[in-house]
Amino acid sequence: MSKLDFVLEELVTANRILANEGIVDSFGHVSARHPDNPQHYLLSRARAPERIERDDIVEYKLDGTAIDNNAPAAYMERFIHGAIYEARPDVHAVVHNHSPSVIPFGVTGKKLKPFLHLCAHIGHEVPTWDSRDKFGDTTLLVGDMAMGRDLAKLLGARPATLMRGHGATVVGRSLRHAVFVSVYLEVGAKLQMQAMALGEIKFLSTGEIDKIVARLNDYSLNRAWENWARRAGREM
Ligand SMILES: [Zn+2]
Repeated sequence: MSKLDFVLEELVTANRILANEGIVDSFGHVSARHPDNPQHYLLSRARAPERIERDDIVEYKLDGTAIDNNAPAAYMERFIHGAIYEARPDVHAVVHNHSPSVIPFGVTGKKLKPFLHLCAHIGHEVPTWDSRDKFGDTTLLVGDMAMGRDLAKLLGARPATLMRGHGATVVGRSLRHAVFVSVYLEVGAKLQMQAMALGEIKFLSTGEIDKIVARLNDYSLNRAWENWARRAGREM
């Protein structure tokens, strides 16, 4: 199987997993950097992630232009993906979602931080991008490269950012990595709301987070991926 074939299959699986695990619903999307051309990325046409097939995947330039002039309708927020690939050479997959448990953190100023070891991969603290700061009253959707680049700037070198009143964007070194972090971002947010109701939280220390992140290997990612893929009706 070529590298491109592999990534296309992984991308369909990533869509199905994210839908099956409740990280995306009819909205939200996941992309992969093109394995043979780092200036291009692969993303489905505008369609619910649960329904995506391999033929739905479209190749885009980083500015969001489809390579094929006759490409089907694109996600309006595809600029998130290109702007991040442009800013982060280390990133090979991007997930944008409206994962329900992260939303309260984006609107209250309460910081989303890891206290469960599996959630260390969300980063030391997840920042919140507020479209209103720079762009005023908008639909909150990232509809052009200027907004995408502003989001990428706040993301910086981090694995994830929240988006006020909207959702989250997560990046990874591979599709398996980005899906893993996306799932544990939702898990961490849900648990943090439960823990906050009980009392003061002892979060992971900076040193603990760094050690856990350094230890994340393909074995762990593959173990989760196989389970989630099968649960979503896909082979690994
Ligand atoms: Zn969105």
